[in-house]
Formats: sequence, C-alpha cells, structure tokens
Amino acid sequence: MNEDLLGGCACGAVRYRVAGPPMFVHCCHCLDCQRQTGSAFVLNALYETARVELLAGAPARFEMPTDSGRAHGIYRCPTCGTAIWSEYGGTDKVRFMRVGTLDDPKALAPTVHIYTRTKQPWVALPPDVPAFEAYYDAKKVWPPESLARRKALFG
Ligand SMILES: [Zn+2]
Ligand SMILES: [Zn+2]
Repeated sequence: MNEDLLGGCACGAVRYRVAGPPMFVHCCHCLDCQRQTGSAFVLNALYETARVELLAGAPARFEMPTDSGRAHGIYRCPTCGTAIWSEYGGTDKVRFMRVGTLDDPKALAPTVHIYTRTKQPWVALPPDVPAFEAYYDAKKVWPPESLARRKALFG
C-alpha cells in the first residue's frame, strides 16, 4: 500500500490527503477512546505530520482530559465536529489520523490492538494481529522501516 489516501469530515469542509503507508495503525480499546468516539474503540493511523496535507478546511483543536496529564488534542471539523486526528504528548510531529474518515476506510486495517483489558466483551480479536492489555513497546512490534521513520522524527 504505497498510494496516497484521501479523506475528510462528514460535511465536506475538511479534506485531506495522506502520503504513502502509515507507520502503524492502532485499534485502541481504552475507556477514553470509547467515550470520545461514543463507540467500542478508535482506529488511528500514525503518520508523520509532514505526510498529512490539508486540502480544505482548518480542523480546530479540542483538549481532552487525561489520567496521565499527558496532552491529548482532538482536531475536529469546526462545522460538523467530525474528529479528523489526534495529537498526543505535546508533539505535533505525529498525527493519529482517524481511519474512519478515509474515503475508503477499509484501506487501513489495525496492525496492533491496545488496551484490550477494557475492550468490549463482544469484540473478538483476530489471532494474527498483536494485542496488548495496555500500551506496548514499538521497538518490539513495529517493522524496521516504520522504526526508521520514527527515529527520523524523534532521534
Ligand atoms: Zn465537517
Ligand atoms: Zn485509547
């Protein structure tokens, strides 16, 4: 999967393009993600911010409360409120793009399931995708090319 992908919000005011494959795709089953999406989990494709091109609109940041005190901003369409991406930990180098906002949301499947300790009991996890009770060590799970991309960002 090396093609660019297009996406946007429900009303069409925000449109974006992401370049190439993501570094990794999180399916997060934590209770914060369940509450913030009103659903069973969130699907986030991790991209370098430089690979995300805004084609239209200007998502507005909404600050989320966190247990850890680590910053979490959700960027939403200012018109319809659709969540487009998250930024975590006070860095704007990586965007956690909401896979469900892609024009073809099946283009990116989860490459890891995290915080499975709070997953909904009816969610059955595929046996061939890594799953963790809480967070995980990217160094042990990400493919070398994704680790190289992360190292290029953070050293
Ligand atoms: Zn919108
Ligand atoms: Zn989560």
